[in-house]
Amino acid sequence: MSTDLVRRRWMKNISGSIILVPLFFLSRYAEAKTNEALRAQLKYQITPKESMKCLTCLEFIPGKTNKDLGGCKVLPGDDEISPDGYCTSWNTM
Ligand code: SF4
Repeated sequence: MSTDLVRRRWMKNISGSIILVPLFFLSRYAEAKTNEALRAQLKYQITPKESMKCLTCLEFIPGKTNKDLGGCKVLPGDDEISPDGYCTSWNTM
């Protein structure tokens, strides 16, 4: 195998990686989902209402830390719920 052929194959493989690595990271961001229809129905907001916020709601599914986005049992398919958010289904019972 000639050196030129080896170099071309190497360049071809590297160029594929240069394209695939950013796509991998972009796809991770694309995985985050929101449930816009239910958010609107429940009047979800990213700020607390008085002392009521998602972090203190029984429906909240926390993220890795208390400051990370999490999920909500009432908003299926939504993994961008702010711990400081609020909606009309806020529940502590
Ligand atoms: S029910 Fe509403 S207040 Fe409770 S965690 Fe879900 S979005 Fe937040």
